[in-house]
Amino acid sequence: MRPRSLDEAVGYLGKHAGDLRVLAGGTDLIPSMRQKLFEPQYVLDLGHIAELKGIQERQGSGIEIGALTSLTSIEHSPLLRRRYSVLTQAAATVASPVLRNMGTIGGNICLDTRCLWYNQSLTWRKSCGFCIKKDGDLCHVAPGGSKCWAAFSGDTPAALLCLSAEIEIVGPSGTRKIPLREFYTGDGVAYRSLHPDELVTRVFLPEAAADFTGVYRKLRIRGSIDYPLAGVAVVMKRSNGHVAEARVAITAVNPAPVLVKGASERLAGKVVDEALAEAVGDLAARTAKPLTTSALTPEYRREMIRVFTKRAVLAAASN
Ligand SMILES: Cc1cc2nc3c(=O)[nH]c(=O)nc-3n(C[C@H](O)[C@H](O)[C@H](O)COP(=O)(O)OP(=O)(O)OC[C@H]3O[C@@H](n4cnc5c(N)ncnc54)[C@H](O)[C@@H]3O)c2cc1C
Ligand code: SF4
Repeated sequence: MRPRSLDEAVGYLGKHAGDLRVLAGGTDLIPSMRQKLFEPQYVLDLGHIAELKGIQERQGSGIEIGALTSLTSIEHSPLLRRRYSVLTQAAATVASPVLRNMGTIGGNICLDTRCLWYNQSLTWRKSCGFCIKKDGDLCHVAPGGSKCWAAFSGDTPAALLCLSAEIEIVGPSGTRKIPLREFYTGDGVAYRSLHPDELVTRVFLPEAAADFTGVYRKLRIRGSIDYPLAGVAVVMKRSNGHVAEARVAITAVNPAPVLVKGASERLAGKVVDEALAEAVGDLAARTAKPLTTSALTPEYRREMIRVFTKRAVLAAASN
């Protein structure tokens, strides 16, 4: 199904939500369908809905980004580079240039959680007896538990959390706007608060989050094309050398991207030095709960969250 307008798309969602999967750029959905992680009867291709593409400045109230805006457009937007640079930095690290041409911000926000035991072919998963995330009832990563710990592995949501972004969600029962931090549940299976008949349609960056110094750092195996195995976003505003406001968020080490609790308070009013940056790194490492869902050991990934956070805080304070 290829709707040309949002109304048409919502109409399809109202009729077929149970049997349907939404496709934006398809850079994650198509490989997942090939692995039979999703076997929908219908695919709703949003690619022709022009009204959901583009970056617009809202006079005095921040920026609106359509969910179908490509990551390349975000990466190269002069407006975003100037005013919300942490987002352009995070977007520029997603996958590779070709995938960023196809991949959208909405798809990056809605990205499925990932695990070494899940992102495999049907034959592979069958040979292991499947798992809680699909078709099975045990977790190979945390046996004995009933929760899936698959890691949320998108880059831009950590930056968007630092920017206090909100998202618009549209479905047959209407439109709602929520802070992005309320979108993720922390469960590897039902990882987002989105009904099957709903779409993420727009992202809003508030004016109050503009003009912060931003830094994004990420750990990955192949520098040219890989999901994050640990990611850190930092935004900071300083006045007379003291931190006026700052936020830190991490990704790829929990089933959801999360703001690091206590980091803003720890930084507020201080002059950043090695010891303070290290203390914030410790907070971030304590927030990270990596398990054996991904390549590289959990211990190394947690340590890299500590190191990257420290470096990112120091870098943000030196700009
Ligand atoms: C080799 C490779 C490397 C990659 N590396 C990275 C990386 O480094 N960092 C990273 O973040 N990602 C990475 N990805 C994943 C992917 O390319 C990006 O996350 C991309 O932004 C996904 O966007 P998309 O538009 O292609 O999403 P799609 O594949 O179309 O969709 C992804 C998911 O979101 C849902 N969805 C999409 N849009 C909406 C919407 N508007 N409303 C509701 N649901 C929606 C889909 O149903 C699907 O479940 C990689 C992928 C590959 C193949
Ligand atoms: S964390 Fe456990 S339940 Fe979730 S995908 Fe991995 S093995 Fe499956």
